[in-house]
Amino acid sequence: MPITVVGSIAYDAVKTPFGERERMLGGAAVHFALAASFFEEVLVVGPVGDDFGESELEVMRRRGVDVSDVERVSGGKTFFWRGEYGWDLNSRETLDTQLGVFEGFQPKLSARSRESDVLFLANILPDLQLEVRGQLPDARFVALDSMNLWIDIARDQLVKAIESVDCLILNDAELRQLTGKPNLVSAAREILSWGPKVIVAKQGEYGAALVTNEGFFALPAYPMENVIDPTGAGDTFAGGFVGYIAAHPGEVLSDEMLRRAMAHGTALASFNVEEFGTERIERLTGDEIAARVDELHAITRFSGAPLQLRG
Ligand code: AMP
Repeated sequence: MPITVVGSIAYDAVKTPFGERERMLGGAAVHFALAASFFEEVLVVGPVGDDFGESELEVMRRRGVDVSDVERVSGGKTFFWRGEYGWDLNSRETLDTQLGVFEGFQPKLSARSRESDVLFLANILPDLQLEVRGQLPDARFVALDSMNLWIDIARDQLVKAIESVDCLILNDAELRQLTGKPNLVSAAREILSWGPKVIVAKQGEYGAALVTNEGFFALPAYPMENVIDPTGAGDTFAGGFVGYIAAHPGEVLSDEMLRRAMAHGTALASFNVEEFGTERIERLTGDEIAARVDELHAITRFSGAPLQLRG
């Protein structure tokens, strides 16, 4: 089932201890779309400026992504983000965010984008997320990502947006910030009471946790020795996770299938961090993803130990 994604399409300037890029293709919607394109057709909705290159659109087209709802705003500038990572890549500082064409953006979804059964509201202004959610009232599965900026300056709108979706995907620190609860499981349980049925807590290099009314599941990140640039790992995870769900339309949204979706998101995110921006995902293959999911399975399973415990 096709997936519609709305979110940033960006130029990123990124510095990590292993190098830097001054102007590379980025944006939450782009990272998501490239990852999800391994599972289903993806339609991207979002604005770009005059400065956005054909070759960047071609990166998405080559993966079969439908970019006909990417709106070129004449006289506008593409969203720009600049970030720098600390020595262990766990801390990231945002040095500049220029909304550019996102200021005043009114999403206009084509009939095709509105027909998708699955919708991903990537990290953008909560008002825009609500607006797009309203244009796909019958979508079977809607997931939403956000960030601390919107919790700080638009919390009420963000809560409304979260109430309208099936799944929230957020960093663990942001889940705590959003709910004011220091405990991650309590924070997730509180959000389940708002409406969503699935909460995914992203935990950076430690992986991701899944909380539903049925239970709890956690997967570590795939152990990588050479992490070059984590930018977009969260959106790439979301692309694998949501993409897997979209590709299994007949299946009940059980914890079993959500766990498999988590494994695919985790595998995709691990490739994303191997190189800068979208570089690695651009030449990734389905076989490589499948092999990494198998490896992830092998390193996370253990058998029950029939051990006689003392006491
Ligand atoms: P992640 O590393 O998964 O948090 O995603 C990083 C991507 O998000 C980058 O490619 C940025 O272009 C994009 N991004 C950063 N800040 C924002 C923002 N305020 N709104 C929308 N997208 C953003």
